Amino acid sequence: MSLSYVTPTTDSPWGTFLSQIDRVLPYLGRLERWAETLRRPKRTLIVDVPIELDDGTIGHFEGFRVQHSLTRGPGKGGVRYHPDVTLEEVMALAGWMSIKNAAVNLPYGGAKGGIRVDPKKLSMKELEKLTRRYTSEIGIIIGPQQDIPAPDVNTNAQIMAWMMDTYSMNVGATATGVVTGKPINLGGSLGRVKATGRGVFVTGREAARRLNLPIDGARVAVQGFGNVGASAAELFGQAGAKIVAAQDHTGSIFNDHGFDLSKLIPHVKATGGVAGFAGAERMVDEEFWDTRCDILIPAALEGQITADRARRLKARMVLEGANGPTMSSADDIMSERGILVVPDVICNAGGVTVSYFEWVQDFSSFFWTEDEINVRLDKIMVGALKNIWDTADRHKITLRTATFAVACERILSAREERGLYP
Ligand code: NAD
Repeated sequence: MSLSYVTPTTDSPWGTFLSQIDRVLPYLGRLERWAETLRRPKRTLIVDVPIELDDGTIGHFEGFRVQHSLTRGPGKGGVRYHPDVTLEEVMALAGWMSIKNAAVNLPYGGAKGGIRVDPKKLSMKELEKLTRRYTSEIGIIIGPQQDIPAPDVNTNAQIMAWMMDTYSMNVGATATGVVTGKPINLGGSLGRVKATGRGVFVTGREAARRLNLPIDGARVAVQGFGNVGASAAELFGQAGAKIVAAQDHTGSIFNDHGFDLSKLIPHVKATGGVAGFAGAERMVDEEFWDTRCDILIPAALEGQITADRARRLKARMVLEGANGPTMSSADDIMSERGILVVPDVICNAGGVTVSYFEWVQDFSSFFWTEDEINVRLDKIMVGALKNIWDTADRHKITLRTATFAVACERILSAREERGLYP
């Protein structure tokens, strides 16, 4: 029986997640009897977040926190501020976190949160009030041992600092381990800001090696030039790749010789987007998907690679920096066309891996150097990808289904070993 409180469609985020679970069933063996667990989030919390706006009126915002699975450890997953956030989207994002955390073997379940708001329309004061009230509302289910939020779309280290402070005030003790992605002064970890982009680069580098595709001179197109997209672009640029196209919510830009990233990144920081960058031509948004490139990095939102776009892509490899950027129908088309997809559930796991390092450092109050963090991150990502690749080769399945197979085996084995309570 499907859940009564959401109505997913084939290509909606939760519908996509469910179809990904369907595809892994043949590889679960005796564990298949537990698979229904993955179709039902353990806990979903919907909260009203009222704040007094600067003009004196009262604004109400919808907030969510979903704990998809807590079988392998506390919940872990980001918090997103976006006007299109829905319960269904947060459920899917939480589900993907369960898979991702298990795929890299972190001792976490999967969770995600969000507020349906356009934060760009709020003042800093309003943003702080919104964050503090939301944290208080979800405070009944989060905690360093229960569920640990982190940044996602439109949230950052400052928002994590407010969340940490609010939770700490409510429990009466400084609890740095309640969120990750914090400022360095508050128990944050070196290397966390760029960790997701670094993970995208590391998995891309390994996949390119297997395809005999040299990174030096490779043409790269990036959708989303925020935390993940810009960090990944920077590392690919340092390795000699040319970033020829970029798209974000402000528009799309192109330069056949590759952008000068030492100018583009400050431009995005100063203006809020790629549009208007002097070292590039503007391109029509839809033409971004026709860019001649070797590597495409979707690093914005879900559902960007539709069936139609998948038929037109010119890339040899897609590195899913974003969560859920590919619709199920598009997945099959890319597979038929021989385009290698490194799926989100492994490709963007670098962020949560360094979040795990941050959490461990907070508990031991002993902090590592940035080099130590980057080396450990590299090792975990390379090892996890190799295991997934071996699984894909053994069963002749895509990397996505192989990542689900590895992860679901771990989650459902833990489920079976724990047994059902009471
Ligand atoms: P961000 O807010 O820093 O950047 C988001 C980017 O997407 C911005 O460049 C924005 O302009 C762009 N964008 C928004 N709407 C768009 C649209 N309609 N068309 C094109 N571009 C659009 O967010 P982020 O942290 O970089 O997250 C990006 C993706 O990566 C999300 O899917 C997120 O869930 C995923 N992710 C983030 C992390 C992390 O550590 N931040 C970890 C894992 C996965």
